[in-house]
Amino acid sequence: MKAIQITKYGGPEVLAYQEVAKPEPKAGEALVKINAIGVNFIDVYHRTGRYPGNLPFVPGSEAAGVVEAVGEGVTEVKPGDRVAYAMQIGSYSEYATVPAWKLVPVPADVDDQWAAAAMLQGMTAHYLSHSTYPIQKGDTVLVHAGAGGVGLLLTQMAKKLGSKVITTVSTEEKAQLSRQAGADEVILYTHQDFETEVKRITGGKGVQAVYDSVGKTTFDKSLNCLRPRGYMVLFGASSGPVPPVDPMQLGSKGSLFLTRPSLAQYAQNRVELLQRAGDVLQWISDDSLQLRVEHRYPLSEAAQAHRDLEGRATTGKLLLLP
Ligand code: NDP
Repeated sequence: MKAIQITKYGGPEVLAYQEVAKPEPKAGEALVKINAIGVNFIDVYHRTGRYPGNLPFVPGSEAAGVVEAVGEGVTEVKPGDRVAYAMQIGSYSEYATVPAWKLVPVPADVDDQWAAAAMLQGMTAHYLSHSTYPIQKGDTVLVHAGAGGVGLLLTQMAKKLGSKVITTVSTEEKAQLSRQAGADEVILYTHQDFETEVKRITGGKGVQAVYDSVGKTTFDKSLNCLRPRGYMVLFGASSGPVPPVDPMQLGSKGSLFLTRPSLAQYAQNRVELLQRAGDVLQWISDDSLQLRVEHRYPLSEAAQAHRDLEGRATTGKLLLLP
């Protein structure tokens, strides 16, 4: 079978499209024939070695397809089932073996591409808005990179929960998409000082929560955008990692809460996973959550997908098609 393999960490050029051995499901696993693969920023961290793996490896943490075979003891799925999954490395491939508990059934009216697009970013937006800082009606929240994959979904969920949403984006085109997703106010943080703008928009009060996936270039000012006892939710590092933080800062800026959450701890077992993924897939099915699959590439062009994602050239979701 064909897959992308990484034999050394580096730039997009290390994503080599190669013939590799088709895996066999072990006990507790299912073999999935992959029809659509989600590209996520975490794939960049795996490729560069920021999150090191065991070389050589097949990258990618999200896909949708059909169960072809199951290993011993598997009760969750059976051959022929349509499934989607996230948080299991090895999806840049025609086939993957996946722990069966991580496989989520896909509703008949949600196609493979939508399912692959929804899992990781959809569940992330879900836990950030419903669990990490559960948004309350009447809140005002700030979402950085509002036209990104997570950003567009998080904005829609925050609106559904009744909050006012301020987003940041780098271009006017991205601003339009963010507004279409429901953002009440959009700040072009490449041209405007977002801290000044947030203070102006909130009449100096600040926001209840900042959802910050950009990291290095936004973190310090994000803290200044919070009202007392606000939540600083740092969940990514698209611009680079945030340097060490002095906890005293949280006190002097208003008894702030700081968390660095990961999806793995918010979908820890099958019950939690099925609830979160079930909500997301249901909202897609009933049209109350709009997915934007903006970029599709053949699997062999994974390197180009990474160049575009890292180059801030994308909006919404990127997919690879085997
Ligand atoms: P996005 O589609 O949001 O792409 C990244 C965006 O970040 C860019 O489009 C860009 O938007 C913005 N950005 C700002 N500065 C930079 C920079 N220097 N280089 C590149 N991009 C920059 O990606 P995803 O939706 O896949 O992921 C968003 C973030 O969320 C990532 O950091 C990812 O690691 C994190 N994440 C965390 C999870 C968790 O559980 N902790 C789970 C899933 C994702 P603009 O041009 O508008 O500035």
